[in-house]
Amino acid sequence: MSDYTMTIDGKAVSAPGTFGVIDPATGEVAEQAPDASRGQLDEAMDSARAAFAEWRRDDAARRAALLAAAEQMFARAEEIGRIITLEQGKPLGDATMEVVGAGVWLKYYAGLELPREVIQDDDAAFVEVVRRPMGVVAAITPWNYPLLLATWKIAPALRAGNTVVLKPSPYTPLSSLKLGEVLREVLPPGVLNVVTGGDALGAWMTAHPVPRKISFTGSVPTGKHVAAAAAPDLKRVTLELGGNDAAILLDDADPAAVADRLFGAAFMNNGQVCSAVKRVYVPEALYGDVVDALAAKARAARVGNGMNEGVEYGPINNRPQFERVGALVSEAIAAGARAAAGGRPIDGPGYFFEPTILADVPEDARIVTEEQFGPALPIVKYRDVEDALARANGTNFGLSGSVWGADAERASDVAARLDCGTAWVNTHLALAPHQPFGGFKWSGVGVENGPWGLYGFTELQVLHRSKQ
Ligand code: NAD
Repeated sequence: MSDYTMTIDGKAVSAPGTFGVIDPATGEVAEQAPDASRGQLDEAMDSARAAFAEWRRDDAARRAALLAAAEQMFARAEEIGRIITLEQGKPLGDATMEVVGAGVWLKYYAGLELPREVIQDDDAAFVEVVRRPMGVVAAITPWNYPLLLATWKIAPALRAGNTVVLKPSPYTPLSSLKLGEVLREVLPPGVLNVVTGGDALGAWMTAHPVPRKISFTGSVPTGKHVAAAAAPDLKRVTLELGGNDAAILLDDADPAAVADRLFGAAFMNNGQVCSAVKRVYVPEALYGDVVDALAAKARAARVGNGMNEGVEYGPINNRPQFERVGALVSEAIAAGARAAAGGRPIDGPGYFFEPTILADVPEDARIVTEEQFGPALPIVKYRDVEDALARANGTNFGLSGSVWGADAERASDVAARLDCGTAWVNTHLALAPHQPFGGFKWSGVGVENGPWGLYGFTELQVLHRSKQ
């Protein structure tokens, strides 16, 4: 049995079976989560479809409900934060801020207007362009920011008048189950359903006849499966996928001045952020200083159980990811890279890995060419800016990137040549509810956040009234 219940049609629902949720700080099963049956998914979809008819009608009620949902997040931030730390591993302060962030997103969308644009009003016709909700949205989320990324979907989807069936990652189902439970008090039955299970449940959702839209955040390979599964009945898709963000330091960057922010942007959430800095390109003249400054930060980082006071970095979230990061680091070292800091798993239970800075990394090492999604950062030398840009852009990823230098104008000119959805100058990972976020190339399709994220949950309709 599980203490956690799914939310279907506004009710608490247990499943015929459960699956274990592991605390990554201990490697032990800490809780059980419901393993939804196919029939329960059908019930969730049917209830979302039934709720849509009423929910789409009352704009003011939707705004009020989203505001009330935001208030719940603010009021219960620490309580839900503890659940996130337990299942995800991040320090409690960060987990609590994630819940606050979820509230910020819900509040932002509560306040956003759905535009009606008049594009013609003359003797011939009155023509408006309006945004209509789509129906049921299937929302599928990953394990790195389980609650925040769920609200990136739920808030705009509900604001636009859709209803939602949410399926979190099997590694981090508990905070989404809790979200469903908390919002039962705030949302009409069927408007938000939360179901949990393994990857197969995600595949059932994408192939299910009810949803008109799949909003997916996760890895590139799964994103491609989702796109293929959505194609036969032309479901709309938004895909927020992986990244391999490059940070390029220009020759006028001050290593001591940028090291702090660069390290923070690479190691935030233990490097398990889609748009974290995942490789750093440095001109030869600055190379030694940059490696030393980042290695010093890595050695000073406090790693431990996220429930403990003063911990800055928790464990890697799950065993496959822990093993993958270890393999990428060992392979790079075997190919000639030098661990300027870290380089190994930390002894003891749990999925802890030393914050790792790798120098002299061969450009074709997988830790440079693939997404490591963990606490290990390769630092690569470049000859000139053209070389750095060619290498930064020479990948199928295109989520975000950054350029760092004392001359912000020059850095901006270089940043404008990055082939990615967000190009930052002298910062990285600066995300906000009003700022659209999405990837070029294999990093995604469509965007989340801002009015653009809202439009992704609508169909555009022309209302054309003849005056003749
Ligand atoms: P994943 O692709 O393994 O899983 C993501 C979700 O998809 C999970 O809920 C999983 O159960 C589900 N799923 C698995 N197989 C499925 C299928 N065939 N059909 C439908 N759903 C299926 O990703 P992950 O390991 O949980 O997350 C890490 C990845 O997510 C990284 O690549 C990271 O960069 C990416 N990510 C992207 C963003 C972004 O906004 N671009 C944000 C966070 C994470």
